[in-house]
Amino acid sequence: MIRCGIGYDVHRLATGRKLILGGVEIAHSCGLKGHSDADVLSHAIADALLGAIGAGDIGQHFPNTDESIRGMSSIEILRDVNALLTKNKARAINVDATILAEAPKIAPHIPAMRKIIAQAISLDESRIGIKATTNEGLGAIGRSEGIAAMAIATVEMVGRDRRVRPKTNGRPSGPSLPS
Ligand SMILES: [Zn+2]
Repeated sequence: MIRCGIGYDVHRLATGRKLILGGVEIAHSCGLKGHSDADVLSHAIADALLGAIGAGDIGQHFPNTDESIRGMSSIEILRDVNALLTKNKARAINVDATILAEAPKIAPHIPAMRKIIAQAISLDESRIGIKATTNEGLGAIGRSEGIAAMAIATVEMVGRDRRVRPKTNGRPSGPSLPS
């Protein structure tokens, strides 16, 4: 069985912080504010993967009240989410994501992001899509107050999921013929 999940995240930009997107540190005048490294792209992908297996969201698994994960690398979060998928007899098939940022230029860093994310969730790089766009100067993202990311993940359930198969009372399943 194939399942899809969606993820969205946004973090505020602040001075004195490193800008980390998809596990890549990008030179910029400010970085994203958050409890972890505030890697908005990795967070959106983690939420998409968790959503696909019906396992809640990143806030439930990595609460910002947990001091042990302060400053944690979000690539570590992706590795943990991937382990949870395996535990739930699921594996990612592909991930596609878009970063919304007015600045800096994201495109030169995309190959490195794909490589790091692919390794974290045990996927071939060709199955990771990362795109970037500006918000055309509109709204908070357009005013460079923050950076957002959205992601979709497709996941294959490896084990048999009997719960979704209705009982057929001995008759073969499939479309019924006119009687
Ligand atoms: Zn986040």
